[in-house]
Amino acid sequence: MPSRISSVAPPKGDVGAHQERTTATVVATFRFYEELNDFIARDRRRREFDFDCATDATVKHVIEALGVPHTEVELILVNGVSVDFARRLRHGDRVSVYPKFEAFDISPLLRLRPYPLRVTRFVADAHLGGLAHLLRMAGFDTVYDNAADDVEIQRISGSDERIVLTRDRDLLKRRGISRGCYVYAQKPDAQLSEILTRLDLAGSLRPLSRCLKCNAPLVSVDKAQVIDALPPRVRDRQHDFSTCQVCRRVFWEGSHWRHMRERLAKAVSAAAGEPELHPGADSSIFR
Ligand SMILES: [Zn+2]
Repeated sequence: MPSRISSVAPPKGDVGAHQERTTATVVATFRFYEELNDFIARDRRRREFDFDCATDATVKHVIEALGVPHTEVELILVNGVSVDFARRLRHGDRVSVYPKFEAFDISPLLRLRPYPLRVTRFVADAHLGGLAHLLRMAGFDTVYDNAADDVEIQRISGSDERIVLTRDRDLLKRRGISRGCYVYAQKPDAQLSEILTRLDLAGSLRPLSRCLKCNAPLVSVDKAQVIDALPPRVRDRQHDFSTCQVCRRVFWEGSHWRHMRERLAKAVSAAAGEPELHPGADSSIFR
């Protein structure tokens, strides 16, 4: 009896397939970036293409089957989310594969970690002012000076153990820079989501704990100490205040702060891969 049942059952995981087809497949879309294209067939270079993968194949297996040694791969995004080599492919997955970066080791930064980095400090280059603003809004210590040149950024990164954020590969190739993160996304909110995902920081936000202008931590202050400087409506309605000890400005949770919290919540949702907010693996958001 059992043998009769198995003889008419379709292959496992491929209901409806012809009986002679022994290996079920799923179709995933791949895109390889930069020098990884040197390893793959000419007609698949620098563009998206579909590939039949064995059911339950790992992303590592398929990347190597396409010709790319896994040792050359630094970052894999499946549907926009960083994964490790053991990720099993599912039908419809969109896979973006990036090479190692040269001249510096960023491997600890690129894969999802089981825990957030203990201390994460940044220095953003002159073109990433919008991202620096959002990182400060999220509570991350981020040095940004649009007058700082490459030498100064390198000095700040080294002396203060800060991760350099940039879209300039030449900056990251400098021998003196050991902590760096190339930012693929082009717009600040997408850049923030990208950083939260890649450094696994979505659980480490401390919204509105840092002065957006000075980068200094905000400290709480008694209402009585600041009451003379408050607009009448704020004086009546607000009770909790904080101040920046550098610029001495006073902050409270008004509508502007609520707007910022909503903006950060969207970035966290996108980093978590929620479909309506996530940019996905569409190559248009990358360089
Ligand atoms: Zn300040």
